[in-house]
Amino acid sequence: MVQLNILSHIVQKVNNAISLEDALNILVSEVLLSLRAEACTVYMVDKRQSQYVLVATKGLNEKMVKHVRFGLSEGLVGYVGQREEPINLEDANQHEKFLYHPGSGEDKYNAFLGVPIIHHKRVRGVIVIQQPEKIKFDESEVAFLVTISAQLAGMFANSEYTGEMRDLLSSGIAKQKRKDVVFSGISAVPGVGIGIGIIVYPLADLDAVPNRKTNNIQEELVIFDNAIQSAKDDIAKLSARLSNTLSKEELAIFQAYLSILDSTSLDDEVKEQIKEGNWAQGALRKVVKKYTYQFAAMEDEYLKERAADIKDLGRRILSHLQALQPKKIEYPENTILLGEEITPGDLAAVPEGRLRGVVSVKGSTNSHTAIIAKSMRLPTVMGIKGVSFEKIKLADIVIDGYLGKIYINPSQSLLDNFAKLAIEEKELEQSLEQLRTKPAETPDGYRIKLYVNAGLAADAGMSLSVGGEGIGLYRTEVPFMSRESFPTEEEQRIIYRQLLKTIAPKSVTMRTLDIGGDKSLPYFPIIEDNPFLGWRGIRVTLDHPEVFLIQVRALLKASIELDNLKILLPMITAIEEVDESLSLIKQAYDELIEEKFDIKKPEIGVMIEVPSAVYLSKEICRRVDFLSVGTNDLVQYLLAVDRNNARISSCYQSLHPAVIRALIQIVNAAHGEGKVVGVCGEMASEPLAVILLLAMGFDTLSMNAASLPRIKWVIRSFSMSSARKILNEVLELESASQIRLLLDQRLVDAGLGGLIRAGKK
Ligand code: PEP
Ligand code: MG
Repeated sequence: MVQLNILSHIVQKVNNAISLEDALNILVSEVLLSLRAEACTVYMVDKRQSQYVLVATKGLNEKMVKHVRFGLSEGLVGYVGQREEPINLEDANQHEKFLYHPGSGEDKYNAFLGVPIIHHKRVRGVIVIQQPEKIKFDESEVAFLVTISAQLAGMFANSEYTGEMRDLLSSGIAKQKRKDVVFSGISAVPGVGIGIGIIVYPLADLDAVPNRKTNNIQEELVIFDNAIQSAKDDIAKLSARLSNTLSKEELAIFQAYLSILDSTSLDDEVKEQIKEGNWAQGALRKVVKKYTYQFAAMEDEYLKERAADIKDLGRRILSHLQALQPKKIEYPENTILLGEEITPGDLAAVPEGRLRGVVSVKGSTNSHTAIIAKSMRLPTVMGIKGVSFEKIKLADIVIDGYLGKIYINPSQSLLDNFAKLAIEEKELEQSLEQLRTKPAETPDGYRIKLYVNAGLAADAGMSLSVGGEGIGLYRTEVPFMSRESFPTEEEQRIIYRQLLKTIAPKSVTMRTLDIGGDKSLPYFPIIEDNPFLGWRGIRVTLDHPEVFLIQVRALLKASIELDNLKILLPMITAIEEVDESLSLIKQAYDELIEEKFDIKKPEIGVMIEVPSAVYLSKEICRRVDFLSVGTNDLVQYLLAVDRNNARISSCYQSLHPAVIRALIQIVNAAHGEGKVVGVCGEMASEPLAVILLLAMGFDTLSMNAASLPRIKWVIRSFSMSSARKILNEVLELESASQIRLLLDQRLVDAGLGGLIRAGKK
């Protein structure tokens, strides 16, 4: 019987090895000491060559290490790999698959036990023990080798991305080219970033704090007050550091941090815990946990991300309570930050001009880190999986923010290639910067208006800085989400007024409350089996005219003397909904006129985001001033694809022929009635789709601020006549993939390939 303590002894010794080669040599020797075997050999798969390579042995001729290579289906080793299970033979020489490698010294062995080394369903190698005597290895020996092989699997996978495996394999007879190890995540900010990986560790570990009774409540209260003050000082310092880089609106994110620290609820709750006898650290952990759980459980993606903010603050306060000095990090000239959860504070801590990119395991495109990284134009990949950061610290890293990929210790040729693309990208950015003040006009004189979608204060500032002609969609639910009850008319008026004022004289299209679906308010939960087909958007507000009327009154009052407001109605599916909404808006307007407010009637529009509204576009247009197509929902409802379901994300195709035909129908209906029509869904920021939207005749496009310069470039590069020709070609095609391929080609032909991949061509 092989004992467990022998196994753990081997694992420990192997883990202490200084290199993969060393680890393999220790392993084969140790296995021989523990089993009835005279040879132990490890074969590794060389993927590029589709071969097994003998990488370590004790008992065979050690001079053959790295020199014995054979095909993946050859010999008993190949057979083990193909079967993906242990093979235990009394007399291997008699087996039909037996393959003799001259000079290996294998001829004296009969008994053979081979076990595959499998990681993530892929065979990475085979470990073999052999014996001269014709015996079958017993079950405990098989189990032992299976356990060892599981250890090896993890080691092989790690060595694959640290580059050790590549070095080991390429040091054999056939010199190999370096392999570029790549990991995938989500593209949060496009762009190419090249630099050295610096790992960011969390400041302090809240989870590790125990509850502990205090005998001196007064002292704990003072300690807590001091820690809060120090955390505030930290944030103020970080914010000051970025003050030259970020706009006022973006710096507001740090203001939000400070207001959480100032909030009486956090302060009071922690102090209450302390007064009950818990020490300050335990009290803090309890309260921060409660808040992070509350936020993390929210359906809304934006609010979910706020959990990260609270956790970051909690750690900052804790590090002061523990009097931990933050470790001094040396940031190289070209720093790439890597970590489990990179925070805005981490970005701010890097000296100006040194940061080249960000890679984070947690976070999404909605997180504050992503928002700030976007305005700092830092290529960012989030949701990266499978990287053991500890092993790649100080490694060379290349970020491809377009495809959401990172390359670790890349080959010189890949590095050179990306360096070239980064230079081209800079040139591209500079030429786009020159377009800022130029109109979005095709070479043959067709003018289209480009607006920005906003939901955060940061977006408003951005919309002006990128040369947007106003805000084409302001999602009013955002201020509703970040509070504890419906905001009052006056609270709403102040928020809307601030935005209208910032953007004036340009216009702001404010959409009335669009909750339900994936957006629910913490104080107004909507729980349904099929929320996207349920009580959503206008259905909710028409059922609650008091909520709708307060909002419309606040909007109208906010626009006094600015006169730059447009009102947009979400999720309209029937004419009655339009009529009812218009009558409520009229009611609010009449009331305010009666109350002696001097208000100009705003333009009113309807979102087309449900198939029924597509067919009713004409009738809707007769009642309102403009249409705005919400392609995010329209695609979801036309193709029956939940827009948030990652499993079917490949079915979510905005270039589906049905979507294209629906869009044409909407434009024709609107123009037939002499009304303006635009797109405010994500499709308006996709360069390929924009060629088609232009050709269809859309008057306006509204998108995230970061995309606007690129979309302007598309408009200024395609004449209306060439765009129409492409649309006609597209209408002949029957599938989204064919359409994408064709558009891709047309974009590259026009010299705009840089919009969809790294580089500028
Ligand atoms: C849309 O559906 O396209 C849209 C712009 O609205 P939202 O993404 O807020 O649902
Ligand atoms: Mg929508």
